[in-house]
Amino acid sequence: MEMHVVSFSGGKDSTAMLLRMVELGMQIDEIIFCDTGVEFPQMYDHIAKVEKYIGRPITKLRRPKSFEYMLLSHVKKSGVVGYSFPDFRNRWCTAYFKRDHIKSYLRQARKEMAVIEYIGIAADESKRIKDKRYPLVEWGWTEADCLKYCYSKGFDWGGLYQVFRRVSCWCCPLKGLDELRQLRKYFPELWEKLLEWQTKTWRSFRSDYSVLELEEKFMADEQFQQMELFAGRVAV
Ligand code: SF4
Repeated sequence: MEMHVVSFSGGKDSTAMLLRMVELGMQIDEIIFCDTGVEFPQMYDHIAKVEKYIGRPITKLRRPKSFEYMLLSHVKKSGVVGYSFPDFRNRWCTAYFKRDHIKSYLRQARKEMAVIEYIGIAADESKRIKDKRYPLVEWGWTEADCLKYCYSKGFDWGGLYQVFRRVSCWCCPLKGLDELRQLRKYFPELWEKLLEWQTKTWRSFRSDYSVLELEEKFMADEQFQQMELFAGRVAV
């Protein structure tokens, strides 16, 4: 017996994969979304819209402890308070909120049958793992194809993909500087929360910049741009 499980992040790639699988009538026994609690508000609206569109519910896995609690207050075995911000070598949040959670959720099912997971990795960023299937790679769909397909079906994430190239947790330090600049510009209330967290935790947001340093940098960049603009106008 087989169980076919769609791993759904809500982003353009996994959304395109899910919609197309439904369109093709492929077997889907469960659709699972691991909720970190720090998704953009538009993402939750998007997930509700997808559920309505496909006419079936999406299983939402949520940990009892929040991202903020784990970041700032959870006492580790070492006695250190808070996991603090993740980095490339230590993505504790991916493990806690996603990988380990889905693994324990499917543990029982795996004892009883073969569980096949469908992962929405686009053809231009493929990485194959045994026991998993990558329909987008099989179809040759790139990230751009996925976004275009989702738009054609009426999904626009409230404009998130006009602001960001990739959409993940709003507080992710693995975002590029441009994406963080956009976060500060378009989501000032979330940026304020990030500033607050930086003052309460022990690790710098990124190895090169804390959130406070980023704030100073972005402000300085803005002032420089305004001066350039003004100089340009005067020169004209
Ligand atoms: S996107 Fe970033 S913040 Fe979110 S779970 Fe992954 S590493 Fe952590």
